[in-house]
Amino acid sequence: MKRFCLIATCVCGLAFSLVGCSGAPSAPSAGSNADTKQAATLVKLSDEDRVSATAQGYCAVMTSEPLGSMGVPLKLSIKDQTIWVCCKGCEKKALANPDQTLAKVAELKAQVISDQSK
Ligand SMILES: [Zn+2]
Repeated sequence: MKRFCLIATCVCGLAFSLVGCSGAPSAPSAGSNADTKQAATLVKLSDEDRVSATAQGYCAVMTSEPLGSMGVPLKLSIKDQTIWVCCKGCEKKALANPDQTLAKVAELKAQVISDQSK
């Protein structure tokens, strides 16, 4: 009986390692799934807004956060410029430091343009 338990444990361990292995190859496609989700979120914006959000690419506050990855991005207006943030929390931070936010947006837009020309 004790022997059977050992075998069962082994089989369990093997099953887990198999799941781990079969899960690994699908990892690279997870990135493209996120892109698809992001695109699907941005589709909810008007054409004009989508172009504007796509040109910025990333949240003006959490600059590693692609716009659309946290749901529909929020449009803000700072000194007559349209800028985008990923969520409500970032909206407050963006408005608290308008000059810094506009500088970040300028950086992000330049980054998007250089990414596209690669
Ligand atoms: Zn955010």
